[in-house]
Order: sequence, then structure tokens, then C-alpha cells
Amino acid sequence: MSQEQWNAVDSYFSGALVPSDAALDATLKSSEEAGLPTINVAPNQGKLLHLFARIKNARRILEIGTLGGYSTIWLARALPSDGTLISLESNAEYAELARRNIESAGLSKVVSVVVGTAVQSLERLIEAETEPFDLVFIDADKESNPAYLQLSLKLSRPGTVIIGDNVVRKGRVADPGNHDPDVVGVRQYFELLGANPRLDTTAVQTVGAKGWDGFSVTVVSA
Ligand code: SAM
Repeated sequence: MSQEQWNAVDSYFSGALVPSDAALDATLKSSEEAGLPTINVAPNQGKLLHLFARIKNARRILEIGTLGGYSTIWLARALPSDGTLISLESNAEYAELARRNIESAGLSKVVSVVVGTAVQSLERLIEAETEPFDLVFIDADKESNPAYLQLSLKLSRPGTVIIGDNVVRKGRVADPGNHDPDVVGVRQYFELLGANPRLDTTAVQTVGAKGWDGFSVTVVSA
């Protein structure tokens, strides 16, 4: 099995099931032109996020890690016209570009991009007694995943779905001797998930255009 084969299968799936889309294509193009890292979700993964939000009938979505707004647009398109998506991003230039992409996609009415370190932004949302979210997508610096989980739980209710991206770390997640901050963060994230009786979680490893990766899905219970 090779990266080339994984790319070919992802292209086949996207060609068959994820039609080319002007707003999403323009988001990737503008992100590339602005020199953003190509660490957005792949098209078929973006569609999976969109489907999760639709399955959940999400009206309120929280995203941690906006980049150029690619996954934001996928998620926001699942919302009703009076829905809300708050996306947290530490890089002001990325956030500005994301806002422009979201505007071009016709989603400015439902999406707010908040600039700042996500831990501080989450604390502000909690202090403001923000209404709980139906779906949370965690996709920022992985070393902060434990903090993102604990803070997100304060913005959740029974039934909230929490998705954690990039949880495989090229297999390093299974190595307890690995002390890279991202790996430690993801391992602590899983420890918190596994130890909390309010949380039901699974994780799936994937291959595709983004290499060897994976995601976790959690449902919060009462
Ligand atoms: N979700 C995006 C997508 O699929 O299109 C990709 C997000 S990218 C993997 C991670 C983003 O998190 C980057 O834009 C990065 O600037 C942002 N980030 C990293 N550390 C952060 C922090 N402490 N607080 C908020 N955002 C952060």
C-alpha cells in the first residue's frame, strides 16, 4: 500500500460523491495563495463532518482550529438558517482569510470566527454562559487537546457530539515512550475520554490524501 494508492482512492471517492464546489475550491485556492499550511481536512473528510452535523441535526457548532475556513464551511452548511457556528483561531491573518472565504460561501450570518488562543476563547464562552453546543470539532494544537476537551464539556449537554481530528500521529499515539507534546496531548485526551463515565467514545484510523491519520467521536451523556 502506498500514498499514491491512497490518493487515487480518495480522488475516486471525492469524484463520485463530493462534487466540485466553487466556494470550497476558492477557499483552498485562496489559502494556498496566502501560504497557509495545507492541513485542512480532505474533501471527503469535510463531507463526513457535514454529514455528522446533519445526522445530529446540529443547530450550534463549535470548531477549535479554523485555518482558512475549509472545514468551517463544510460544517456550517449543515446548519439551519438560524443556526450558529463559532470557530476559534489564534492566527489573526488566517482568521481574516477564513472570514472572507465564509462570506464568499454566503455563511457569514451563521459563522463567527473568534481570534485568540482557544483556551482563552473557550474560557470566555464559559464565563458568558454561552448556550451549549450540539457538535464540537477539535482540530487545533494537539498538545492542548486535554484542555479543549475539559472546556468543551462545560459547553456541552447530554447528546453533544465531540469529534477529535488527527489522533493517530502517524502511529505514535500507541507508543507510551513517545514524549512529543502532540502525542502526549492526544494520549491524555484519550485517557480523559476513557475515564469519564459521561463520555462514550470510539476512534478510527484512516488512510487517504492526508496520509495515515484518524479521528475520535464522542457522545456526551447525562
Ligand atoms: N479545521 C481546519 C480545516 O480542516 O480546514 C484546519 C485547522 S488546522 C489543522 C489547525 C489550526 O489551529 C491552525 O489554523 C492554527 O493556527 C490553529 N491553532 C493552533 N494553535 C491554536 C491555539 N492555541 N488556539 C487557537 N487556534 C490554534
